Amino acid sequence: MSIRKLPGRLLATVDRLPSASYPLRRWVALAAVALAALPVTRAAVTPLPDDPRCTAEDRKFMARAAELAASAAAKGNSPYGALLVKDGKIVMEFENNANTSGDVTHHAETGLISASTVKLGKAFVSQCVLYTSTEPCIMCCGSIRSAGVKKIVYGCTATQVSLLHGRKLPFNPLQIREVYTRIGATDVTILGPLLEGEGLAVHAAAMANVEKMKKG
Ligand SMILES: [Zn+2]
Repeated sequence: MSIRKLPGRLLATVDRLPSASYPLRRWVALAAVALAALPVTRAAVTPLPDDPRCTAEDRKFMARAAELAASAAAKGNSPYGALLVKDGKIVMEFENNANTSGDVTHHAETGLISASTVKLGKAFVSQCVLYTSTEPCIMCCGSIRSAGVKKIVYGCTATQVSLLHGRKLPFNPLQIREVYTRIGATDVTILGPLLEGEGLAVHAAAMANVEKMKKG
């Protein structure tokens, strides 16, 4: 395995460690950040394997989340999409529209939670599975938690997307499993990554499009 593939793999591995392993998590995160400081090329971002706990149904809905992400990008927004599923059926979808709406809270997941809890009610939403094309940011982690959602499936690992963008990772990147562990939300199942290759391809295409537009 190339050394350039290590940061994402290290972070994904440490992300699954129990909360008692925080000192270890910190050291591994430090090692990952050091590796990530090496010159990174976009081609070096290798998709992580699917979370083995994910099912064929999870893959189907994640593929839809990736479509929503691509649709968001086509409309001039950041490439993120999310959907809610109840009893095997999609009950609501949301694409990031923060740019075109001007509402900075309109990330795919927070927008979805906001619209769905108003329309369907918190009791209903709390029984849904939330699929999101990329691991949620901390704002969206809070929104999802507020709605009482008990199962979350994400596509791309957030740190992988950062590497794709050539961004240096923060010293100790905060990821969804740590957020939920530290707030004591142990009743929530978090699965991912899933179909990360497809998801990263959507991000890469959106990045290429933005660069093309800049060049005019
Ligand atoms: Zn977010």
